[in-house]
Amino acid sequence: MFEMDESTIRLLLFSGGLVFFLALELLVPYRDSSVSKWKRWANNLTLTLFNSFLLQLIFSSAIIATAMYVQTHKMGILNMLEAPPGIIFMDFMLYVWHLLNHIMPLLWRFHRVHHSDLNMDVSSATRFHIGELTISAAIKISIIFFLGASYMGVLIFESAVLLCTQFHHSSLKVPKWFETLWWILFVPPSMHRIHHSVIIKERDTNYGAIFSIWDRILGTLLINVDQKKIRIGIGAYPKPDKLNLHHLLAMPFTKPVR
Ligand SMILES: [Zn+2]
Repeated sequence: MFEMDESTIRLLLFSGGLVFFLALELLVPYRDSSVSKWKRWANNLTLTLFNSFLLQLIFSSAIIATAMYVQTHKMGILNMLEAPPGIIFMDFMLYVWHLLNHIMPLLWRFHRVHHSDLNMDVSSATRFHIGELTISAAIKISIIFFLGASYMGVLIFESAVLLCTQFHHSSLKVPKWFETLWWILFVPPSMHRIHHSVIIKERDTNYGAIFSIWDRILGTLLINVDQKKIRIGIGAYPKPDKLNLHHLLAMPFTKPVR
């Protein structure tokens, strides 16, 4: 059997998901873009590429190496457990991390780069500031170290998060019955669209990445919003010409807007 390393798997999943959801977005779009899709894509993908070069090299291998280390040394309290409970737990940790990004002013400075996108599509899924990704990778490594998530568990979790975020950011028209069904356990595009609203009250809800259950249990779920009226972005950044790559990289260090 041939073996692939985790960065090859990640690259294949990323590009596969990107092409797959882009094709669907173009075939069955949820709504027309309000700003140039290609200009946003140029920004979002350059940012993704820039982050990947700096981060994947250091952290993705470190995350997997930590998981392998704790697995061989039988460390961590989750080590006795198989992959699925580990994935559910890691998704809960991601929910908490996402919530903190919205309520802690310092973290919001970085996370607002993601929310400043004026339209949502599959390219928004990896539009993050390197600062946010660095802090989250460091936290992820500590969690894996102390809880002992298994190598397979981490690999499956990372892949699931990637595909789920590409899906729920995509500007794809999903059949109503599928959305309703998906919403019971998972995060459909309409749920995450509310999270990207310019209205702060709506933005501070629906933090889930894979599962919608954390929002449901902890009271941060918001369903009844007129989807057609949702305006995407951050009120303080309405202009696309102020959202080029260099603006995005400098954003955390500029005026702290909500
Ligand atoms: Zn957010």
